[in-house]
Formats: sequence, C-alpha cells, structure tokens
Amino acid sequence: MKVPFLDLKAQHKGIKDEVERSLQEVMANTAFASGPFVQKFEDEFARFCGVKYCIAVNSGTSALHVALLAQGIQPGDEVITVPNTFIATTWAITYCGAKPVFVDVDPYTWLMNPDLIEQAITPKIKAILPVHLYGQPVEMDRINGIAKKHGLIVIEDAAQAHAATYKGKRVGNLGNTTCFSFYPGKNLGAYGEGGAVVTDDENIAGRIRILRDHGQSKKYCHDFVGYNYRMDGFQGAVLSVKLKYLQEWTDKRNDIARRYSEGLKDIDGLQVPYIRDDIVSAFHLYVIHTPKRDELMTYLQENGIAAGLHYPIPIHLQKAYKHLNQKKGDFPFAEKNAVQCLSLPMYADMTDEQIEMVIDSIG
Ligand SMILES: *Cc1c(COP(=O)(O)O)cnc(C)c1O
Repeated sequence: MKVPFLDLKAQHKGIKDEVERSLQEVMANTAFASGPFVQKFEDEFARFCGVKYCIAVNSGTSALHVALLAQGIQPGDEVITVPNTFIATTWAITYCGAKPVFVDVDPYTWLMNPDLIEQAITPKIKAILPVHLYGQPVEMDRINGIAKKHGLIVIEDAAQAHAATYKGKRVGNLGNTTCFSFYPGKNLGAYGEGGAVVTDDENIAGRIRILRDHGQSKKYCHDFVGYNYRMDGFQGAVLSVKLKYLQEWTDKRNDIARRYSEGLKDIDGLQVPYIRDDIVSAFHLYVIHTPKRDELMTYLQENGIAAGLHYPIPIHLQKAYKHLNQKKGDFPFAEKNAVQCLSLPMYADMTDEQIEMVIDSIG
C-alpha cells in the first residue's frame, strides 16, 4: 500500500457527477470569464465566512496583491509578516513596491509571535500581514489590538485556513480583509487556479472589484492602474459544488489529525502540532517537528509514504530577497521550523489503513 501526500483523484471520484454537470452548465451559458457562476460562488463564500463581500480573483497571490493595493499600500511602505510562509505572501508586498519586514514565529504554533510585533513597528510600517499557517488561525485579538493602537491595517493570508475558526468565528470574519487561495491542493481547491478576498468593508470591496478588472469602474472607463485578475467561470462553478462539502472535509481532517497526534505524541524528540484551545485548525497541513527530519522523510519515502516540507527555506534566506540583507540567525524559530518540519499525508479521503500505516511507520 502507498500513501500519497494528497489524493485529489479520490476527492474527484466522490463529486464527479456534480462537478461535470456544473461544468456543462458553464459551457451551455458560455459564461467563461467572471459571470453568474463566479457571482454565485462569491455570494456563497461570503455567507460561509460570515461576511458581506467576497471578490473572487484568479489566484491567492492576486488576492493578496489587490487586498494590499486596495488598502493603499504603495512604494516606500513596509509590511510586517513572517519568514516561514509560502513566498506568495511576500510577493504581494513586493508587487506593491513595499518592503516585507519579518518578525519571528512562536516555537509551538510556528505562527507569528504577537510579542514581537510592537518592536518591529516604525513610521514606515503600514500593515500587518499574518499568515494562518497550516490552517491554524493566528492570535487575531492581539494582532488586531496592536494594529488599532498603532493605526495599522491588518490583511490576513488565509490561503491555508478555509473553515478554520478562532473563538468560535470562522476565518474571514476575524479582521478587516482576508485573502484565500483556491489552488487545487488547498482545502477548497478549484479545478485550476483561483483566489478570493473577503471583507465587510464596502469601499475596499468596491476598489478590489475595480482592481481585478483592468481598473474599470464602468466599461472602458479606467480609474486607476488595474489588472486582469478575474476568476474564470469554470472555477466559480466547481467551487460552488465543493464548498458544500468543505465543513465535512474539515471535520475529517481534524479526525485524522487527532488520530495522528494520539499515535505520535509519546515519541521521543518528536513534536506533534500544538493546537491552542481557542481555535479549530483547518489542518491544511499536519506538520510534525523532529531534529531527525531528513532521515525520517527518506525512511517514509522508502516505505511508500509521501511527506512534504513547508517550507524548507525561510523567505529571509531566499536568493530573491537577498537585497533585504538578512542572514542566518536573524529569525531562529522560523529557521528551526525550516529544518525540522515534516508535513504528513493529509486529505479527507484518507482510509483508516493509510492513517494507521503512517502512524506505525513513524512509531
Ligand atoms: C497557496 C498560498 C498562497 C498563494 O496562493 P496561490 O493561489 O497559489 O497564488 C499564498 N499564501 C500561502 C500561505 C499559501 O499557502
């Protein structure tokens, strides 16, 4: 038996008829770019998150980019974020001509450490961009509090955290502007690329709608520099189908995580995910930490189990960000995460045998 890291074929099998019907409808209506199927999904996803507005775009990266632009981030500004995330988080800052300023993470949750934010604030800092990494919401009350005190914007990277909750509220409804990705491997994945911004702020929603569509307020009236970041109709239709299953899939991910943690918690030198009791993680990733990470990964591979690294090189040590002049040792916990993290297979369609095989192979 093999255990893949993610099994999208198994997921597709369960929803194939519904998805195919929805794609046929898009074709029958030739609603290929934006249009009614995208709008329907926007309404449904806004309701799911408990917010007023959802603006669908063509990727999570685009969602972050337009969210920052709509909040007025511009060249010369600086934005606080973390070094252990997918690079798209900081690309969005860089695309605005702004500079990412890193704070280190907490060594238990591996999320932005709120204790370190205030000391990083300077007059150039305009926003905080926390990442709900692995699907765990960050401590939003503290981050929102710091932002309010210093007059900063908060934009959340929730690319991994669909359906996660913090103090009983779903991610998307915790701050002002939240960005999602619907990349196929994400918890809510399109059949192609996709992303969205959700917000309760009518002005921000309006600006993002214009930004994603060539800066058009009306057809062929361009108010400011815009982009072609529209979602295509097929993705809207598929996402509407899949959204109906998202909570069920999230519950299953949590069941798998509980079984993993129960089976792995007593292994010497191995850290299972620490989940605060005020959150429900989306468990996009189930990440363990061990100093013997590379050996364990190779061993699992040899036994037919695919594990992943999220992420092996922190952003402040990436060649693309050499100009930030940061060095090894600047963010010790983000760096420790990079060398010790190991993401185990995680998808709602995992069988009992597969879950047990992973646990037995590590134990
Ligand atoms: C996937 C991801 C993104 C980017 O989303 P795309 O849809 O791939 O552009 C941004 N941030 C994080 C944390 C992600 O995991």
